[in-house]
Amino acid sequence: MTGKPSLHQLSRLLLAWYRENRRDLPWRNTRDPYAITVAEFMLHQTRVQTVLPYYQRFLGLFPTWASLAEASLDKVLKAWEGLGYYARARHLHELARRVCAQYNGQLPHSLDALLALPGIGPYTAGAILSICFSQDYPAVDGNAKRVLSRLFGIEADLSPSKATKHIQELAAQMLPPGQAGAFNQALMDLGATICTARQPACAQCPWTEACQARRLNIQEKLPLRQPRKTIPHDEIAAGVIWRDGFILIAQRPPHGLLGNLWEFPGGKREPGESLEECLVREVREELGIAIRVGQLLAKVRHAYTHFRITLYAYHCQYVSGEPQNLGCTAWKWVKPEELGEYAFPAANHAIIQTLQAAPQQQDKA
Ligand code: SF4
Repeated sequence: MTGKPSLHQLSRLLLAWYRENRRDLPWRNTRDPYAITVAEFMLHQTRVQTVLPYYQRFLGLFPTWASLAEASLDKVLKAWEGLGYYARARHLHELARRVCAQYNGQLPHSLDALLALPGIGPYTAGAILSICFSQDYPAVDGNAKRVLSRLFGIEADLSPSKATKHIQELAAQMLPPGQAGAFNQALMDLGATICTARQPACAQCPWTEACQARRLNIQEKLPLRQPRKTIPHDEIAAGVIWRDGFILIAQRPPHGLLGNLWEFPGGKREPGESLEECLVREVREELGIAIRVGQLLAKVRHAYTHFRITLYAYHCQYVSGEPQNLGCTAWKWVKPEELGEYAFPAANHAIIQTLQAAPQQQDKA
């Protein structure tokens, strides 16, 4: 190619590459807007390989909008357990209910109507409109931003909405009419397989001759990132509270981190407090009961997106009081073998595994 290629030529190069290198993924072998929307929700912030087994299982359990809308949120969270970012599952469930109640089980075909629905932002709306309904909308996620910022040599921090808007406008101008779905998916594939965050494979890239970042050898510097802030670290105490062979579990409030998931009661250690004192206080505040703290059962380290925790789980013995929903949505006494029926956050799974390896531990409380 001689001279600077036009946006149209760049699109053609990408589509030609996509025809040869397209990844064969289950959500690409269907035209069902429901199945494609489930995939888009799961793929947000999550790698394809992680999503694949969840996707197949989820569609087996909930094959239609109606089946998802009719399911309990507990069942949906259980199917999502381990995939993380649980707000996506709550929003998808709420979306199914709205699609059935408001749109007779069919996703609306307009941008404004989609953006008014739960869990659907500009990226997901663009993906649905272009892939399911063949409309000419861009779908710019983190991968696409990275690729386009390199292609056009955009040396600006992409966090401010102004810079992101500029990239979205470029993507919109590049869309080949009638082929936006293929273009958007091609951009996703290029970002996932060639123009990766580290060590992009520029020699295999269809844009290698046109790419500004490659010309200046600044591929890995783009997109510019904000310097990392120090990640806070919290110490959490949790209680496996025993009473007559049953264990008390509590359901988190519906909104916020890990909303509606079940957990072993407890909370964050305050300055000057021992872990045992913290646990007694948290359980009293959350459930209104008194406990006696026994042996340490497990110590678990876990990293969330913006903070890290060390979770100390103790065997505890119930002492007095009737549990109440003071800081939780619900509570239950369950047998150790019933714990698998509830959706727990990842950090609680190590506690469950330790318990299941040595279930007769109530004497340690
Ligand atoms: S040439 Fe390299 S940096 Fe540029 S878009 Fe292709 S893979 Fe990314």
